Amino acid sequence: MVDVTVFGAGAFGLSVAWCCARRGAAVRVIDPDGVGAGASGGIVGALAPHVPEQWNEKKAFQLESLLMGADFWGEVEAVGGLSPGYARTGRWQPLADAGALALARTRAESAARLWQGRAAWDVIERPDDDWAPATPTGYLIHDTLTGRLHPRQACDALAAALRAKGGEIATGGRAEGQVVWATGWRGLEDMTARHTRLVGTGIKGQALLLGHDAATMPQLFVEGLHIVPHADGTVAIGSTTERDFAAADTTDSQCDVLLARARTAVPALAEAREIRRWAGVRPRSRTRAPMLGRHPFREGDFLANGGFKIGFGMAPLAGEVMADLVLEGQDRIPAGFDPRASL
Ligand SMILES: Cc1cc2nc3c(=O)[nH]c(=O)nc-3n(C[C@H](O)[C@H](O)[C@H](O)COP(=O)(O)OP(=O)(O)OC[C@H]3O[C@@H](n4cnc5c(N)ncnc54)[C@H](O)[C@@H]3O)c2cc1C
Repeated sequence: MVDVTVFGAGAFGLSVAWCCARRGAAVRVIDPDGVGAGASGGIVGALAPHVPEQWNEKKAFQLESLLMGADFWGEVEAVGGLSPGYARTGRWQPLADAGALALARTRAESAARLWQGRAAWDVIERPDDDWAPATPTGYLIHDTLTGRLHPRQACDALAAALRAKGGEIATGGRAEGQVVWATGWRGLEDMTARHTRLVGTGIKGQALLLGHDAATMPQLFVEGLHIVPHADGTVAIGSTTERDFAAADTTDSQCDVLLARARTAVPALAEAREIRRWAGVRPRSRTRAPMLGRHPFREGDFLANGGFKIGFGMAPLAGEVMADLVLEGQDRIPAGFDPRASL
């Protein structure tokens, strides 16, 4: 007997399935394209916070989820035996001018209050290290909240942990028990087709991977570019943001631009070898917030979608609150994440 069937084997579907399985539920995951076939099978994996100001329920939820990362991914690895590549290595961000420096110092004060001492956001002098990005003021923001994982490996690690708990993962089959739809941007398009206006859409992103070992160094955020060192001696550079696209998984000259920007920003990457390019489509809801809760168009079913650019950062807590709802009928999901908010 199956208690929960999850459609979609990406970060959201697998996390919901895992959180149900670790509470003892019998879980089946169905994805015709297999594990990590969508946005989740990528290479970037920045687990980065929003700026610590103008606090709201989305930022508070994200903070909790990021702080859960070490325990969540640690348990996934311990149960399934595969590493998601998780580490909380922090992040450096350059400060372009006096205004940015002053703002960063103000945010250091708000972080001390909003992050409750569980992580820090400080302004530091640029270390004398070729991993440190160029910074006109000579200063960097250093936060200790940011983590990283390897998205493709994290999907495989979740799948292994699920199977170790007796969960099924299949490319087809029947829905039994409670049903959760976590079908990414295709699922958003399906809901839009059932509605009178846009519920959500796919936003394509391209990224690339370089061979450079900076595994223990902080990740970098430079003029919108995520530069993420992985445990396996690679560094991911991401990402483009494309609303219009002809194919979901193709890369083009926009990757050359990402590469040139990364090489200019970080001295250590000037000669780094390119290993591969990757593209995928992020699920963005109309409100840009995650959509977690009851499915607005499939009566009795549930929905976990809208992870957009921070799906991996949100996945631990999204999985937990969905398991609360699906298994116990307990709803502790922020009101702004109610799928009806995007209708
Ligand atoms: C270039 C790029 C960089 C990114 N960088 C980051 C980052 O640094 N940090 C971060 O947190 N997030 C990042 N993201 C976003 C993150 O990848 C997404 O938020 C997350 O993967 C969404 O997970 P998901 O499970 O909702 O969707 P997906 O991973 O797309 O999974 C949906 C799954 O549903 C399946 N499916 C579709 N239709 C059906 C159906 N009818 N039945 C069954 N299965 C179905 C698909 O095959 C797919 O496997 C990035 C995304 C991209 C594209």
